[in-house]
Amino acid sequence: MKIINIGIDIGGRHIGMALIDEKGKIHKKEIVNYSKDKSLSYIVDTISSYVQEHEKEASSVGIGVPGIVKNNKIVYTCNLSLEDPNFVHKIRTKLPVYLGNDALCATLAEYKLVDKCKYKNYALITVGTGIGAGLIFDGKPYEGKHGYSGELGHTVLKKGGLQCNCGRRGCFERYASVSRLLEVTKKKSLGELFEDIEKNGNLAQIFDNYLDDLADGIANFIMTYDPDMTVIGGSIAWFGDKFYYILREKIASKLFNRGAKDVMLKFAKLGNDAGLIGASFLANS
Ligand SMILES: [Zn+2]
Repeated sequence: MKIINIGIDIGGRHIGMALIDEKGKIHKKEIVNYSKDKSLSYIVDTISSYVQEHEKEASSVGIGVPGIVKNNKIVYTCNLSLEDPNFVHKIRTKLPVYLGNDALCATLAEYKLVDKCKYKNYALITVGTGIGAGLIFDGKPYEGKHGYSGELGHTVLKKGGLQCNCGRRGCFERYASVSRLLEVTKKKSLGELFEDIEKNGNLAQIFDNYLDDLADGIANFIMTYDPDMTVIGGSIAWFGDKFYYILREKIASKLFNRGAKDVMLKFAKLGNDAGLIGASFLANS
């Protein structure tokens, strides 16, 4: 019999929910949009009603959360009112419920489905609205003592720089997130930006500066963790083939200049559903 788990991805504006088999195939997917002012009980009720409807078909519930998670507890969320140590117990179900950071969930999905667990030490860096990371250490997801291990976006790139939501200044994500890139180029989407870059030399220069900041943060990360493979996910990954070699070259130049071929870097393949799929793998990780 196939093993089916429920995967849930809590985003900033929507909750994705689905039944997912061990091969990562998605069934009965539902997306519920919500506004930022919705309370914790709204999120709990939304998840509980989906889980109750499908609990006979599944063996566990995995929930990806945009925040710091440690030992199945939500320790901190920047933008959502989810910080409740009893969050897991509020979901009305008989099934076991597992929580994970959303970037870590995306990492698990990519690690298991695309790379078939072939690397021992592995990392995925999500570059989208913000920047997060998920770490696999010796084949296992690594949260760290406080659950901070993937908070790469909130390491400082420029001291005294731009104010960040987290309270510090100059965080990596304030310079290298997609939100920042669109802000400085005054574009509505990455699609629009890449269409214009070839025609407009000024935009090309701004994008090159952006890639330099992105490369600085990734190089800092590689110098610290030195994984067997580093994967870049998030919305920037859709356009990865437009700048892969330039980015790899820039990263290499910051790593004692060992040569770009030595940089084990690639773009994520699974797209928007990675978080949802990875959440369903939390029970077996
Ligand atoms: Zn920050």
